[in-house]
Amino acid sequence: MSRKNQPAWTPPAEHLALLPPFSGNQFNGWGEAEPRRPRQIFWLRKSEGHPYGRLLDAVKQRFVSVPAYRDVYALADRGPARLPPPAENRRVASADSWTRAVKDFALNRSGARPEGYPGAEAELVGITAIRPEWVYEGFECTLPNLIVIGNAMDHARLSKVPASADDPEGQLEVCDQYNRGARVVNWLAHWIRAQGYEARPHAGPWVGSLNLLPAAIACGFGELGKHGSLINREYGSSFRLAAVETDLPLNHDAPDAFGADDFCAGCQVCANECPPDAISREKRLVRGNVKWAVDFDRCIPYFNETYGCGICLAVCPWSTPGRAPKLAQRFARRARERAGRPIAEAAA
Ligand code: SF4
Ligand code: SF4
Repeated sequence: MSRKNQPAWTPPAEHLALLPPFSGNQFNGWGEAEPRRPRQIFWLRKSEGHPYGRLLDAVKQRFVSVPAYRDVYALADRGPARLPPPAENRRVASADSWTRAVKDFALNRSGARPEGYPGAEAELVGITAIRPEWVYEGFECTLPNLIVIGNAMDHARLSKVPASADDPEGQLEVCDQYNRGARVVNWLAHWIRAQGYEARPHAGPWVGSLNLLPAAIACGFGELGKHGSLINREYGSSFRLAAVETDLPLNHDAPDAFGADDFCAGCQVCANECPPDAISREKRLVRGNVKWAVDFDRCIPYFNETYGCGICLAVCPWSTPGRAPKLAQRFARRARERAGRPIAEAAA
């Protein structure tokens, strides 16, 4: 897959003609010193009137013209499509007890599955309080808590990206994990409503009212990588997110920083492998935060041409099965050693 020393991929003219007359990086807030809420782009359910509407319609058309892609969401089991209203009588329990129950349900811990519910299928679950800055412009989230789940991808399958119409395998793995995440959050929301609480599922690939990436960082899923996606200490970048917004009383998890950000500072694997050279080698100021960020204008045409790309997730060293826990351990040991050294030695 290596593209070292090859020129950057350039988008076809018909693709460029679908873009609005301003930069996607500007739309996303590059260079803005003031914090503001993010703006939705991918994947909108309704594209009418949106500045990227023409592009999104063309992308959808392209996607559904390939039978494997057309069917992958339409025919999949994504859990209950309609949820009942919250039960009239609220069951009362402590936040500790609800937190245990929610995590057991999401992770399908043996014996914890509520009667009448199929087994959930998440590999990761974390809980955080919803922050206004994660809510997309034009939307609101009125419930206080967010349960975030992660579904690990089969790395061997993911490594078959970039996908094409004739070889969809790598991208179908992404779709399959979105469907698995949808089953978890739709059934979890169903069960929470049966306890008498409000619950709203957020399942990909369509963008909901919330940016799930900062929420996943806040609830301990890991750190933001240079490729603009998460790095988790167990699964690297080989997983997908979904979530349930709820007023169920829950305890919140803490962020988990284990050295991935430091690792990215010295690693260029994703930047070297990205065909359109979309991955910035330095952090950038985006809506008031300095962070790793991907050049939207460069990424999106290639992303669309390849039905969702995913190269940067597949090639990240943390995504290689079994490698992330070892890297996390090594970085924890280094941090301990640095902390234990006498000040004069550490400063030398
Ligand atoms: S490939 Fe390297 S630089 Fe890119 S996200 Fe992974 S660790 Fe960070
Ligand atoms: S998704 Fe593909 S094009 Fe976009 S940043 Fe990752 S490797 Fe580059």
